[in-house]
Amino acid sequence: MERLSQYDALTGLPNRSLLTDCLQQAMAQALRRGRQLAVVYLDLDGFQAFNEHLGPDAGDELLIRLAQRLKAALPEDTTLARMGGDWFVAVLPGLPHAAAAQPLLDAILSHIAACEADAHNGQPLTASLGVSFYPQADAVDADQLLRQADQAMFQAKQSGKNRYHLFDAEHDRGLRSRHAEIGQIALALQQQQFVLYYQPKVNMRSGAVIGVEALIRWQHPQRGLLAPGAFMPALEQQTLMVDVGDWVLERALQQIAQWNRAGLRLPVSVNIDAMQLAQADFVPKLRAALARHPELSPSQLELEVLETSALGDLGAVSDLLHQCRELGVTTSLDDFGTGYSSLTYLKHLPTQVLKIDQSFVRGMLDDPTDSAILQGVLGLAQALKRLVIAEGVETSAHAQMLLRLGCVHGQGYAIARPMPAEQIPDWVAHWKPDPAWAAAPSPAPCAAPPLQTGQPA
Ligand code: C2E
Ligand code: MG
Ligand code: MG
Repeated sequence: MERLSQYDALTGLPNRSLLTDCLQQAMAQALRRGRQLAVVYLDLDGFQAFNEHLGPDAGDELLIRLAQRLKAALPEDTTLARMGGDWFVAVLPGLPHAAAAQPLLDAILSHIAACEADAHNGQPLTASLGVSFYPQADAVDADQLLRQADQAMFQAKQSGKNRYHLFDAEHDRGLRSRHAEIGQIALALQQQQFVLYYQPKVNMRSGAVIGVEALIRWQHPQRGLLAPGAFMPALEQQTLMVDVGDWVLERALQQIAQWNRAGLRLPVSVNIDAMQLAQADFVPKLRAALARHPELSPSQLELEVLETSALGDLGAVSDLLHQCRELGVTTSLDDFGTGYSSLTYLKHLPTQVLKIDQSFVRGMLDDPTDSAILQGVLGLAQALKRLVIAEGVETSAHAQMLLRLGCVHGQGYAIARPMPAEQIPDWVAHWKPDPAWAAAPSPAPCAAPPLQTGQPA
């Protein structure tokens, strides 16, 4: 009775219930001896076809032969169990490190191939193996180890069968923590923990404020005010990115309306993620959002599209940006020059504004290549009738150099840091450019066309 409850009747191997006991013991021993163990989940690839072709008796015979072959080939301390059907599990204990399992895995695959050759029946037979290791950085129990190996086996099947796949605990932990992070961001959105800061964009020569850029911040209850770099990457390729983007747009429109009511007519730009642009309802939603705020002119809204983002189908994005322009909204290409296909984007996307990436601006004082690129971009922009604005104007020296090169529009710490909305009216009322900037000579002819505040370029 005991034998029946613990061993597989067909192959005589331990069954699932005995395997769990053996695995638990092997795990305890691995910890004691400071060794690794590998759990190998084995699933035959062509077994069903084999059974259908040659009948269940031949199938059973093959399973018995396979069990014997593997048992004989694997080290003596290996536990080989049959879980049911054509699923087997091998527990390989006493490994000095994970890589030491590799020759054993290769051996398992070649023994399965040999089994098929023995049968001389022309039915291909291979196996997919999934492997998990113990111990791991996080505590895991025997069931989890088996599940991980099963998951890895599924990966091996997905990647083409007749191979092994190692479960990546690190990656899995990354996925789980990312999942948790996304949950927290969703909650933060619900609890209104996000705020928009605004950074002015100015004409450095005339001193005119040409607009402000809305930049998201997370007012985290424990961690304080977080910059987008601390949480936006978790949203990449996530639908939650669209919800956050919708919130940013709505909040920015409310802010424009509020400033308008106070007599301050400022264009506001918002950053749009590629994920948002990929939504079929992007334009209808934008139209509806503008309709909710009839008190503001659509030309007060500017959409910044990241030049580095994977925009996918350029034709579709170009159509979409045309539709935005038809609504009266301005569009700009953000971080220009940092992507792989800057010129392709420039050619195909009907954006009115080019924002030169901060890396070139920051480097231009010491690096002649950066200043040459900057000059080139200014020339390009002029030829293509785009407005140029330089990001990352960090110091007065940057501003003066930009002015000498003919770039009059700038945004950066030398002008103002991003600030809460309440501080903007006061800042706009009092800001004056550094007198040294007015003295900076402009090149002839002037490289950048003028921008009328509040109008699409
Ligand atoms: P961006 O759109 O290129 O925004 C400019 C970033 O440069 C901002 O960082 C700004 O604070 C920073 N900056 C401005 N002037 C200077 C300067 O003189 N020196 C230096 N070192 N940095 C300067 P922030 O606010 O951390 O935003 C980073 C990026 O996060 C943005 O880059 C944008 O790509 C993204 N982002 C911000 N808000 C949103 C949003 O609402 N939605 C989306 N999808 N992305 C956003
Ligand atoms: Mg931007
Ligand atoms: Mg930028």
